[in-house]
Formats: sequence, structure tokens, C-alpha cells
Amino acid sequence: MDFTPPFCPNPDCSHHQRPEGRFFLRYGTFVAACHAAPVPRFRCRACRITFSTQTFRQDYRDRRPEVNRPVFELLASGVGFRQIGRLHRISVSAVQRKGHKIGRQQHFLHENLCHRLPVGNVFVFDEEETFETASIRRVDLATVVEQESWFVVTTAVGSLRRLAKPGTARRRWQDRDEERHGKRPDESSQCVQAALADVRRKVGDRRIVLRTDQKASYQSIAREVFGEQVQHELTSGKAPRTPWNPLFPINSMQAIRRDLVGALRPQSWLHAKKAAKLPARLAIFASLKNYQRKRFTRDKEDKSPAVHLNLIPRSLTTVELQRWRQDFGLHSIHPLSSDGSRRVGEPAAAAPGAPAAPGAPAAVGA
Ligand SMILES: [Zn+2]
Repeated sequence: MDFTPPFCPNPDCSHHQRPEGRFFLRYGTFVAACHAAPVPRFRCRACRITFSTQTFRQDYRDRRPEVNRPVFELLASGVGFRQIGRLHRISVSAVQRKGHKIGRQQHFLHENLCHRLPVGNVFVFDEEETFETASIRRVDLATVVEQESWFVVTTAVGSLRRLAKPGTARRRWQDRDEERHGKRPDESSQCVQAALADVRRKVGDRRIVLRTDQKASYQSIAREVFGEQVQHELTSGKAPRTPWNPLFPINSMQAIRRDLVGALRPQSWLHAKKAAKLPARLAIFASLKNYQRKRFTRDKEDKSPAVHLNLIPRSLTTVELQRWRQDFGLHSIHPLSSDGSRRVGEPAAAAPGAPAAPGAPAAVGA
């Protein structure tokens, strides 16, 4: 692989947004502690900072990059931080830091590859409750799944206030907890709003069908976010949860996620300690489910949900999901590029069979 730096990594440099011609000079090599092969170094002609191939990789500054892949796969298989640490002989805090860094990159990868949804018109939405630290501190997860591909479009996380009946032991526990930590905010509406607004941003002005249960607030929030472009279909929460239920894709996806994300398991030691860390954990799950695994186990073709939605020409491997840094927004190197030549926001002329880049590039996730 002959790597060519696609842009200057310094966000204040003119060659960051619009790299012109050969904006860099070759500047020797160095041997990283974790790789045997020498790493080429470069220097920007404008701002004169030096950088290397490593600067563009997700394992930039990692001491143990060889465990990134198992940490990624084990976190998406419901294994706890402590057990991963034991298996790979790293400390539990190192696994936590790695897990958070990987999750953050997978969040940006999803933002970059799916900043627009070129196809898909039917979306299924539902909320799910979990908790942080103790079962009385409820947390809301608002998730949207695309009907045909089962692509997890977005998940919003927020706190919930669900008070037990006055006089019960649980209520006394909640009262003591609120005395000590202040009144728990209820962000259910904000969560629903955030999830639907994210779908709106991805589909643009296209008309869509939204399927939800009959919770009263969904209709007004959907109308507020989508206006006339939504056809809202309601299903009773009492309808049998069979494959013919219109909410089957979201109900199943929530069950799969509770099984594979340790932080969502109620009767275990793995449950979430801080809701603020949940989005990174959910991003790891969604990345593997959306971009790597095939849609259903029974499918003959190895096409992930993102391939069904024309977001990528073929499913990505775990190595590709973890290769290039994605926190440069649409500037980031495309996961399918082996030499750094193709960026996420560019038309995929170089890759045969790849879909054209949807919509105009916008600064996302930078
Ligand atoms: Zn520069």
C-alpha cells in the first residue's frame, strides 16, 4: 500500500478543507513500538506540521492496537470490560478507554456513511427503558429502524423520571435519591424529537411512512418534525408480537441489542453505570449490525443492511470498520480505501459498482 495523505490533518490549515496539488513533502520514516514496518512521515508545505500514516488511522497513539479488534468484537457480543481485560491481559480501565474510543469512532463512521439515506421510505420507531447505576434511575432509548433492511438509523439516549406509587419502598428509595442528587430530569419527549429529527436530516424532503405504537405524544412530535411529509401509521401495543406485527423489526432489534450489549442487561453486573457512556456502546453494536453482518442469518447473499440501502457497495470487515479515523467529518478517508485516496464525501468513481455520493457534502460529526 502506497499511502498518499488526502489532506493536512491540522484543522486550521488551508490544506485541511481544500488540499491543493502536492501539499506535502515526504519527511522520512519512524518505527512505531507496535508495528515492525517503518511508518512514512510527511510535512505540510503550508502550516509545516509533520504527520504520518498513523495520524489518519483509528489506532493512532494506541499502545496495544492488536487488541482493538477483539475489544470491538467482544463488546458487541455482550462480554464485560473486566472479562475482556482478563482474556487479553490489559487492565479494566484500558478496556474502558479503548471501548469508548472505538465507540466514538464507530459513531462518526455511521454519521459519515449515513449522513443522507438515498433509499428507504418506511421507518419503525419505538422507545425502550433501561437504567443507569440503580434500577430507579431510568434511561430512555429512542430507536429508529428502516423497515426492509433492518438498518438501525439512529438511537437517542436521555434520562427518565418514573416515580413509583407513594408509600412504597421503591418510592422512598427514589425520594432519598432525589434529595441527594436533585430531581431527575424527564427527557422522553426530547429523545423522541432528537431521534425523529435525525431521520428528517437524513431523508431530506422525501415523503416517508413512520410506524409507531399509539403513545399520544408521538403524533404531535412526528407532525412537528416532518410536517406534511410523513404518513404516520399506528399499531396497538396490545397487538400480538408476531412477524406480521408492523413493529416487528424494531421489537426484534431491541431484543437483539439487549442480548448483545452488556450495558443493557438488567439482571447482571454489566448494566450501564453512566448513561453518558451508552451512545458509544450502542454505536459499536449498530456498526457491526449495519455495516458488517448480513441482514438476516437466512439471507443467501452476504449483504449488510447498509448495502441494501446503497450506502456502501459491499459489507465492511471489522478491520475496515476500524481502519481510518472518522472524526474528520465527510473529509475522513472512506473505510473501503486502502491507500487513503478516497474520502467519504466524494463520488465513488474509483470504486466500480459503488453508489454515487448522496447529496452535497455537509460538515457532519467533525
Ligand atoms: Zn497544513
